Amino acid sequence: DPVRMEKIVSLCKRRGFIFQAGELYGGLNGCWDYGPLGAELKRNLKDYWWRKTVQERDDVLGMDGAILTHQEVLKASGHVGGFSDPMVDCKACKGRFRADNLENLECGQKPSCKPGEHKNCELTEPRAFDLMLSTKLGALATDDDPKALAYLRPETAQSIFVQYKNILDSNRIKLPFGIAQVGKSFRNEINPRNYTFRSREFEQMEIEYFCRPEDGLRLTDEWLEARLKFYEEIGVPREKLHILDVPDGERAFYSKKTYDIEYEFPFGIQELEGVAYRTDYDLSVHQKGSGRPLEYFDEETKERFIPHVVEPSAGCDRTVLAMICEAFDEEELTDEKGKKDVRTVMRFMPRMAPIKVGIFPLLKKNEEQVRLCREIQKTLQPWMTVFYDDGGAVGRRYRRQDEVGTPFCITVDFDTIGENGPELQGTVTVRHRDSMEQERLPIDGLLAWLLDRIR
Ligand code: ATP
Repeated sequence: DPVRMEKIVSLCKRRGFIFQAGELYGGLNGCWDYGPLGAELKRNLKDYWWRKTVQERDDVLGMDGAILTHQEVLKASGHVGGFSDPMVDCKACKGRFRADNLENLECGQKPSCKPGEHKNCELTEPRAFDLMLSTKLGALATDDDPKALAYLRPETAQSIFVQYKNILDSNRIKLPFGIAQVGKSFRNEINPRNYTFRSREFEQMEIEYFCRPEDGLRLTDEWLEARLKFYEEIGVPREKLHILDVPDGERAFYSKKTYDIEYEFPFGIQELEGVAYRTDYDLSVHQKGSGRPLEYFDEETKERFIPHVVEPSAGCDRTVLAMICEAFDEEELTDEKGKKDVRTVMRFMPRMAPIKVGIFPLLKKNEEQVRLCREIQKTLQPWMTVFYDDGGAVGRRYRRQDEVGTPFCITVDFDTIGENGPELQGTVTVRHRDSMEQERLPIDGLLAWLLDRIR
């Protein structure tokens, strides 16, 4: 549905979720900047992932590795010389395209090759295009100095494998256990497209779960379930996800089982996350590459072996995009006079919403209302994002918050300040985004009431 996607992209720009990187200078293809609301949304996702993956589990530890990566690490892992996509050239438009998905190939960069007409174009044979981005380190590095070469990591996983032994030795932990990491990765994608879906700079949320060989397949299924539950909890429902059990011959050669978790984006069903049983491939290649032992010694059985690995690897930007696509709604309303209206509302799960609560004085000129709003705001701010707004009619303020997905709005009115008698003094109106219903709550109980609903 391209129309829906256009609306989403335009809302994201208009309200400050996502901007193209370097837009002022014509834009940097495949790179995106998250604006104030996008940054909050992404942070909420990463924090919740960390909480569920590391904080609330005894068997997973976190780490935060360097982006710049030793070339030997990526030689041993097989990335150097091996991490590429098949690419074809179109002889008519001179464009270059990823060849593994020819039916979706969009050659439309030049008027001579319009989308859909590309099948008439003459394409070259596919050849490998290196996706790795590199740089030179050090003040004395020259362009041809091979020792100065370093890579921007193409995945966060490798620093986990490389630090596996240090983490094992510095923590009292036994198999099975995992190491988790959230961070930037870089790939020189041939055709960045579908908004932030395929970018050249992106963030990943990865777990490498080390285990005994006989447990690998079972744990892969368990992680798949845990990950599906996670998506449910952030507002991406099970029925919008597709699980692809990647068949023999299409998996990486070392993988005994791979599930792709895919989401129904407006532009098609596409991968959000891969859950792969990678056997002992990774630690074996690093043991060989470094010449250092990476075996695990099992105290109970007195066995020495290289642990196997199950890897749930999710894309942060893709998940943010899925949450945005899932939340976007245009609701048709009819007011008392029968007038029709469309309400744009982002139905984010409260725990993911960039702004948790809007706070409004009914009348911006009423000093007591404003003072109370500011006081409530100060009480809530250590715990959540609060947005104060006194501009225009309250109804308009609600709509502005609906459009960015704020689940609750608080209004301080004349009842609150006791002008209509003592009964409602000290209470505020809380308005719910989804139902648009309102209820009266005491100011004293607001923090607990809200915390209950946003955790
Ligand atoms: P694709 O087939 O879409 O290129 P992939 O199978 O190469 O993805 P993995 O190497 O398994 O991806 O990376 C794990 C996760 O990292 C993906 O599921 C995705 O969420 C994210 N990811 C990978 N490449 C990109 C990218 N170019 N832009 C945004 N996210 C990405």
